[in-house]
Amino acid sequence: MKIPELLLPAGNLEKLRLAYLYGADAAYCGVPRYSLRARENEFTLEKLKEGVELARKMEKKIYFTVNAIPRNSKLGSFPKYLDEMASLKPDAFIMADHGLIDITRERHPEIPIHISVQTNTMNYASVKFWQKVGATRVILSREVSIAEVAEIKQKVPNMELEVFVHGAICIAHSGRCFMSNYFKQRDANQGSCNNACRDFYHIQVKNPRQHNEWMEIIEDPEEGTYLMNSKDLRAIEYLDEIVKTGVDSIKVEGRTKGEYYVAMVARAYRYALNDLALGKSFDKNLLNDLDKVASRKYFSGFLTRGLEHKVLQEEQNFQNYEEGTSGFSTHRNLGRVLDFDPSSHLASIDIKNKVSQGDTIEVFDYLERSSKTFEVTELYWKGEKRETLSGGVGTVQIYVPFEIKKDSFMSVQNKNLIASYR
Ligand code: SF4
Repeated sequence: MKIPELLLPAGNLEKLRLAYLYGADAAYCGVPRYSLRARENEFTLEKLKEGVELARKMEKKIYFTVNAIPRNSKLGSFPKYLDEMASLKPDAFIMADHGLIDITRERHPEIPIHISVQTNTMNYASVKFWQKVGATRVILSREVSIAEVAEIKQKVPNMELEVFVHGAICIAHSGRCFMSNYFKQRDANQGSCNNACRDFYHIQVKNPRQHNEWMEIIEDPEEGTYLMNSKDLRAIEYLDEIVKTGVDSIKVEGRTKGEYYVAMVARAYRYALNDLALGKSFDKNLLNDLDKVASRKYFSGFLTRGLEHKVLQEEQNFQNYEEGTSGFSTHRNLGRVLDFDPSSHLASIDIKNKVSQGDTIEVFDYLERSSKTFEVTELYWKGEKRETLSGGVGTVQIYVPFEIKKDSFMSVQNKNLIASYR
């Protein structure tokens, strides 16, 4: 069985390093001006250069996202940016705009082009079209099913295919949504989506044949109705079927997500792919590991259309009525271990959330599959012992009764949630 590439997002150099460290074969990143992450994206041309150096050192691949659909005003500066990006020799550009693809093919035919999900490529005729244009890979639309991926691969076997298997998804076809633009003049096709679909809406109805009075439709009495709020994609359970299609790359969304997300998701999918390579059946513990990462709850998207008999009832419903933000997880991310002193057993960590003596902490690292747990007995801030500390106070020291590695992650178990979650 051919095991596909595992492709992770990177919003900065540290996330890029962690994606590779935790098992990604490749990662994607880009400068805000021409990529679809104009915000919370720390990449500059200089940092892309460092990213390429890191990728080469770790023997991984790096793709530059150039997938915005720019207006005329951004075209003038494109050749200069393009030449500078091309001089860094990425493994591919991820692109969507026909004009930018044309300019790139003319100026830098040596750099492979991957067709972005923003082009909504749904069928083999479109894939053949992109092949004629000179692209080497197509990232299929998130709306295709596993059966459709298999058919496309069979009809166009010499074109690389990539599919999204994890992360947030649009309620619209990617790139065909103007809600953010309409409400806030923030253009999703320029990388500035404000996630308007995740908001709560106040919806009223009236029936002229009855009382003709406005009545509000409410799901959440305090806020309104999460009309278009989609759960997040998680297809790890179906990797067996996805891999059998012959797909070349499986992709994780989330360039604006944190380090913990990047590491935990890369780790889970790496182990799932390794198991497949060894002919092992799916390890359900990996689902629990992904529940430890904040999400809007999960479902398997359109990939499992036609496989409904295999999908849990609750995951067949795409909508999250309860919360517009990523509020669901069995654990609170505490942060990454910056340093571990083997003589004192104190781990230094820049904490992201509250931690108290008595909390149960789970430690995950990039080499060991099983996590380790311990109860917090000693907690220090600026050299003083504390009972509790809040996220954002900076670097703290926590006593760990066993040896751990730098770059491990710690998270605090939420026992009530673990009991009720699945
Ligand atoms: S508003 Fe929602 S559906 Fe529209 S582009 Fe943004 S995330 Fe996608």
